[in-house]
Amino acid sequence: PPKDPGAETIFSKIIRKEIPADIVHEDDQCLAFNDVNPQAPVHILVIPKKPISQLSLATSEDSALLGHLMSTASAVAKAAGIADGGFRVVVNDGKDGCQSVYHLHLHVLGGRTMGWPPG
Ligand code: 5GP
Repeated sequence: PPKDPGAETIFSKIIRKEIPADIVHEDDQCLAFNDVNPQAPVHILVIPKKPISQLSLATSEDSALLGHLMSTASAVAKAAGIADGGFRVVVNDGKDGCQSVYHLHLHVLGGRTMGWPPG
């Protein structure tokens, strides 16, 4: 995919409510919704409303926003009831990171024991 830091993706349409998503959190900076193809009993995606295509294209201007995404990942994990047992937060970046949607997102996974190392 092109290194376009503000590329339009399916997540842009979810942010604009042009396609449906099971939204669990929304504020002025971010949106969190259930993954359509869950890899764990709880699998939530936390995305910035700003269309940053991947973590490696975020800039120092995005530092506060990145912090907010991380805090939101923790909040949605607690709200989903997976924080007591423990959970995982993952960012896939680029081809070798197996990123498929080029709009930055944090995967919040839990409700089962995760494997380590990841495949
Ligand atoms: P990536 O591989 O880019 O890290 O993860 C993209 C994630 O987005 C995948 O887990 C995939 O299931 C999820 N996803 C892709 N399209 C949609 C969609 O239209 N709605 C929702 N809720 N999740 C999606």
